[in-house]
Amino acid sequence: MRFLVLGVDLLALGVLVLAARAAPTPGQWVTAAWLAAAALPHLHASHVIERRRRDRAGAPYVDLCSVWIFAGVIVLPLVLELVLVAVIYAHRWVLVNRFDAVRPPHRTVYTAATLALAAAAAAAVLQSSGVHQHLAGGARPGWADLAAVVAAAAVQWAVNTGLVGTVIAWTVTVEHPRRLIGSASDNLLEVSQLALGVFVALALLWWPPAALLMIIPTFALHQCVQLDQLKLAARTDQRTGLLNAIAWHEQAEHALERTRGRIGVLMIDLDWFKRINDTHGHPVGDDVLAEVATVLTRTVRRGDTVGRYGGEEFAVLLPDVDEAEVRAIAERIRLRIRGLRITAPTGEAVTLSATIGAALDPAEPGAGLDEMIRAADDALYAGKKAGRDRVAVAGW
Ligand code: GH3
Ligand code: MG
Ligand code: MG
Repeated sequence: MRFLVLGVDLLALGVLVLAARAAPTPGQWVTAAWLAAAALPHLHASHVIERRRRDRAGAPYVDLCSVWIFAGVIVLPLVLELVLVAVIYAHRWVLVNRFDAVRPPHRTVYTAATLALAAAAAAAVLQSSGVHQHLAGGARPGWADLAAVVAAAAVQWAVNTGLVGTVIAWTVTVEHPRRLIGSASDNLLEVSQLALGVFVALALLWWPPAALLMIIPTFALHQCVQLDQLKLAARTDQRTGLLNAIAWHEQAEHALERTRGRIGVLMIDLDWFKRINDTHGHPVGDDVLAEVATVLTRTVRRGDTVGRYGGEEFAVLLPDVDEAEVRAIAERIRLRIRGLRITAPTGEAVTLSATIGAALDPAEPGAGLDEMIRAADDALYAGKKAGRDRVAVAGW
């Protein structure tokens, strides 16, 4: 891992040294200055959004300076392009990453190095297909040039995602390999930036001050990033990371529609939870809730839907099960919750158990999710009355 990071950093440095052998012309310096004049106000204005985005651990990093970097790939000589990447990341370090304890400096260097290599690879595509020469000669670009630009964008994306994804795969456990290449909206954002980058490049070639106007749509695009985060936050219970009640209900309804076999619902309520709070304090209660959430997600099968239904109450939807399976899963959950060994800061052991009400969809059709929840809830209360720490299955 270390070798990869070091190798990428050194390779980027090597490319910079090689590129520096060709001195830019005064005109190219002017173009670079225009590009920096457009890029830096955007990056500066959006650093607040960047700071918030930093919370998404494990998610791939879709960079929001691709607009400027890709424009540079098209219009700048490689050495100035690499200087631009360095300036952007120095700025990012000073304003954002420096405040982030989980992001040591070498991470920022690595990100900048991957982008530098991605930009160099994209520039090589444009160079070999003759686009650079066309544009420098003032020719009107045609379809072949557009195809080369699209190919260059694809190469930039692939190199960057490949290098960043490799490091993420090595350093954090990602449950779904798909997450390494990012969500659909992350990638839509990246592609939008590359497309805008082409227009910035056109402006820089023919009407440089117009490039400044691109700050506005770029900033708007940047704000869209937050939409995804808000959507996720609106569905998630902050304490446990599980779906909240509304999101669970919504997802359970979907699962109900898709499933062909019988469905089970579990309502899980921790026993004497108020006493845990009273005896050990509220923070210990919070820890218990988080531990129980982990037990639940680890104990259910793939495709089951787990949510926090209320304070110390959880709900699970089990598609395609029969009564024996529902009982078995519920029993397994009950035993694992009871088996949790949690110690309060005082050193005292926290004893924990749960009562679980279960309901299966009735043989006769017509009953929906709400009826099943009610039946599971009734079973749960019957289980509480009968002495707690047990599984009770509703008889319809
Ligand atoms: P029972 O066995 O009958 O379910 O008893 P109980 O004490 O678990 O039930 P009750 O409904 O009386 O109490 C639930 C408690 O859960 C009360 C509330 O303070 C606590 N609670 C709800 N949400 C949270 C939370 O987010 N954190 C902590 N620490 N406690 C919570
Ligand atoms: Mg309760
Ligand atoms: Mg309770």
